[in-house]
Amino acid sequence: MDYLPIFLRLEDSHTVVVGGGAVAARKAELLVRCGACVTLVAPELGRAAGELIEKASGRIEHLPAEFSPEQLDGAVLAIAAAGSPHVNAAVAAAARARCVPVNVADEPRLSSFILPAVVDRSPVIVAVGTEGHAPVLARRLRGQLEALLPTRLGALARFAGLRRRAVHESLPPSERRPFWERIFRGPVSAAVLAGNASAAEALFAQELASSRAGGGRPRGEVYLIGAGPGDPDLLTLRALQLLQEADIILYDRLVCAGVLERARREAERVFVGKELPGSPGDEADVNAQEHIHELMARYVERGLKVVRLKGGDPFIFGRGGEEAEFLERRGIPFTVVPGITAALASAACARIPLTRRNLAGSVTLATGHRADSDALDWQALAGEKHTVVFYMSVSNMDEIVARLLAAGAPAERPAAVIERATLPGERVLRTRLADVAVRARAEHVGTPALLVIGEVAALGVGSVVRAAAEALRGVA
Ligand code: SAH
Repeated sequence: MDYLPIFLRLEDSHTVVVGGGAVAARKAELLVRCGACVTLVAPELGRAAGELIEKASGRIEHLPAEFSPEQLDGAVLAIAAAGSPHVNAAVAAAARARCVPVNVADEPRLSSFILPAVVDRSPVIVAVGTEGHAPVLARRLRGQLEALLPTRLGALARFAGLRRRAVHESLPPSERRPFWERIFRGPVSAAVLAGNASAAEALFAQELASSRAGGGRPRGEVYLIGAGPGDPDLLTLRALQLLQEADIILYDRLVCAGVLERARREAERVFVGKELPGSPGDEADVNAQEHIHELMARYVERGLKVVRLKGGDPFIFGRGGEEAEFLERRGIPFTVVPGITAALASAACARIPLTRRNLAGSVTLATGHRADSDALDWQALAGEKHTVVFYMSVSNMDEIVARLLAAGAPAERPAAVIERATLPGERVLRTRLADVAVRARAEHVGTPALLVIGEVAALGVGSVVRAAAEALRGVA
């Protein structure tokens, strides 16, 4: 390590930036953000620098002159961004002679300090540096950290900061650290990061009271997470963050290995999927669902972070609603993280817009499961200018088609089947309502797959080319 990483307090300190161009303006802006007073030395100012001075309400003073060494007298820090190697070298030499830390833009050899790439979640600051070897790599890492760190991380640090004294006064030294560990890995932190200040406050008070009473042990909780349609890159950032917190993951059949790989390495993975989904409500199904509820409760009781991971979105045909009700009844803290549901992912893969002006003003996400057929309003589903997406429909397509035709949907209405959306082996079949069940069987469509019915199903990849070809054939 050739450089010491430090965070320097610059509030109201005198700093000097040499240069009037865009780079100098960016550096001056950074210093102003830290509360520094900046003297900007430049015979002429570029547009960015001029605008910045107006915005900076007196924090930046422009010195319209060539650089000369005595301008650094009394400065606590200097940055050279003059655009001329000659001037920059002179700034570096003058700064060193005065023991003023200096950074020269793009010249690590002339610099006594370098500016890291920064993720700013004030008061949490993450600084990434490569000791000048690869600034672009540092920026890439910064981007990755940006994605990984919760937006409200700063709020979490402030929340803790405001309560440090209370904790200090309430708990003996040996218990403070484990207490904060529980806060940062527990429901309090989850509530702050989700923007729920009142819940966080209440949970914190509970946690402190129970620690004071000597009952401080990790509190379990459940994260009910949507894993999206399959491709791990379609997980949400919140899902990724919470997967990193997991002690145990209860996952379904539709959750892919690639998604599980993104979870905390030490987390135990438990498969709780139903191989062949029974009809909801039958005895086997009720038992399986209750078993999952009891498993969640048992692990939470042990103080574990339980991730309940479901394909797509947990609240779209995912039994997430029942699980949430169960947790609520038992008073178990839980967080719900939405996922990209299969209908949206499939539509994107097939480039089918589910709504489109003049073609479809509404969309219905419908169950295609045989057991639910009688409960659906087929008249409404068969209506015009409407898109219907049937989940769980592969083994029931004949009935779906028959019911729609009987309810008055035209045989010609476009239909598409999207199999394994976003997964290897993804396929899209396009046909018309009357033929879709036969086509799907002939092509051996398997699960998971979705059926899209509506005018929009004819749109998508190649539809413009197809339409042109059909028009040509019509002319011929
Ligand atoms: N909660 C899930 C749906 C669970 S029901 C969600 O929001 O997506 C299971 C059904 O979802 C499957 O029968 C299939 O119709 C559909 N499905 C899930 N993943 C899919 C995928 N990658 N491609 C196509 N359909 C999918």
